[in-house]
Amino acid sequence: MSSKMLQFVKTEKQMPEKRTAAERAKDFDEIYADFSKAKAEEQASRCSQCGVPFCQVNCPLHNNIPDWLMLTAENRMQEAYEVSAATNNMPEICGRICPQDRLCEGNCVIEKGFESVTIGAVEKHITETAFENGWVKPAAPAIEREQSVGVIGAGPAGMAAADMLRRRGYQVTIYDRYDRAGGLLIYGIPGFKLEKDIVERRARLLADGGITFKLNCNIGTDISFAEIREQHDAVLIATGVYKARDIDLPGAELDGVVPALSYLTASNRKSLGDEVAEFDNGMLDAKGKNIVVIGGGDTAMDCVRTAIRQEANSVTCLYRRNKANMPGSQREVANAEEEGVDFQWLSAPQEFTGSDKVEAVLAQRIHLGQPDETGRQVPQIIEDSTYELKADLVIKALGFDPEDLPTMFNEPALRVSKWGTVAIDWKSMMTDLPGVFAAGDIVRGASLVVWGVRDGRDAAERIDAYIQAELRGETKAAG
Ligand code: FAD
Ligand code: SF4
Ligand code: SF4
Repeated sequence: MSSKMLQFVKTEKQMPEKRTAAERAKDFDEIYADFSKAKAEEQASRCSQCGVPFCQVNCPLHNNIPDWLMLTAENRMQEAYEVSAATNNMPEICGRICPQDRLCEGNCVIEKGFESVTIGAVEKHITETAFENGWVKPAAPAIEREQSVGVIGAGPAGMAAADMLRRRGYQVTIYDRYDRAGGLLIYGIPGFKLEKDIVERRARLLADGGITFKLNCNIGTDISFAEIREQHDAVLIATGVYKARDIDLPGAELDGVVPALSYLTASNRKSLGDEVAEFDNGMLDAKGKNIVVIGGGDTAMDCVRTAIRQEANSVTCLYRRNKANMPGSQREVANAEEEGVDFQWLSAPQEFTGSDKVEAVLAQRIHLGQPDETGRQVPQIIEDSTYELKADLVIKALGFDPEDLPTMFNEPALRVSKWGTVAIDWKSMMTDLPGVFAAGDIVRGASLVVWGVRDGRDAAERIDAYIQAELRGETKAAG
């Protein structure tokens, strides 16, 4: 093993520098700096090169983490980039926004009593170094194939699949109903976690490699799903999940009670320089307002932190369980706390009040009771515990479900699960429709970017196998 490694005994874990809460509240820029070259080398050298690397096992992409850590520690950055890019189509994005505490870093078994290696930050550093040095190149397939694939959805799953298919020489078109590529990377996730030019740079790279983007193109409205199937040898559905879970409480229909994604999209569009009527008229702008966000996941954390940056008067997060049971990344909760968000743990909304628009939230205190069959303690309302929170804008961040795809696509034979996600055969990744595959959130339900990339890569491999089998005349049965 390289003598540079195993430095965890004398070198402490360090994250890249984080801007102070006061400073970062002034803009939507990322809060973490990039590692310097020396720091990346130092931190990578803490890895103990485990025989069975649990970091790698628990990365959905099974990234070859020990190898690229060693190459970074030895300042062999181009090789580190090649190893990293071999398993990940957007390492600079995953390095920034994967919940590493639950995935690679959370499973780093460096040695009892020592903190994990900062894997995500090194992954980001490797690819940023590669971009700076011109090592990141658009796809240049060795052969061009006549066959084409239509990808519906330009999120991480669609982009990863398109990238892999293009590298194999297929003609690839990505269709997206939005005016920009990236899916939730561009309009969901705020700039303080992932700056927009990082997403645009990736999309540009795909276009430079010969992938055609048809934006502002809603499949099912602008072009029928049947037409897409006719135009291409195979189709990938990677449309994500967008139906916001609602809240059925008195006053929920009042003006000023809004879904999280409308709020975040408006803010992201403003950062990108767009005119946004609902923001410009003040409706979706938190400035000077009392904001209450309902929910405890990543989306809720993104909303509270966006409201802080929009100079809200107060920002409160209501969550019905306690901090230890928050579904969101603990790192993001800590960042929100530092930035001044008031967390009301063990609290649930009871009613929204106001005359023509929302003015307050009546909330009740919760006690966590016995665990249910899933092992999670059941929230129970404490009687006579109602209290009032002033609210000019209430943001509902309760999760997302799939839209009704068979209806949207006018394709009743597209089988969906009881949750509305598209049903696939996991081995072939094909839906019940021959030649139609699916990947990402639309299959898993709301998940993570890294799982979208994984699914996109797997789907590309299966689509390639399917098209090649078709060409050989080995027609495969669907599903
Ligand atoms: P999406 O990213 O949703 O992309 C789907 C695309 O399909 C969209 O561009 C949409 O416009 C397009 N589309 C849909 N229907 C049609 C149609 N009929 N015709 C044409 N185009 C269509 N994950 C993390 O790992 N880390 C995080 O920090 C994180 N933060 C998040 C914050 C928020 C606010 C949200 C909402 C999610 C977050 N996630 C995070 C989850 C992550 O963004 C998703 O899991 C991931 O983007 C899913 O990728 P996808 O490609 O399946 O779908
Ligand atoms: Fe960790 Fe995500 Fe990178 Fe995998 S892709 S190594 S889980 S940061
Ligand atoms: Fe290195 Fe930690 Fe992975 Fe072991 S688990 S190989 S110490 S990063």
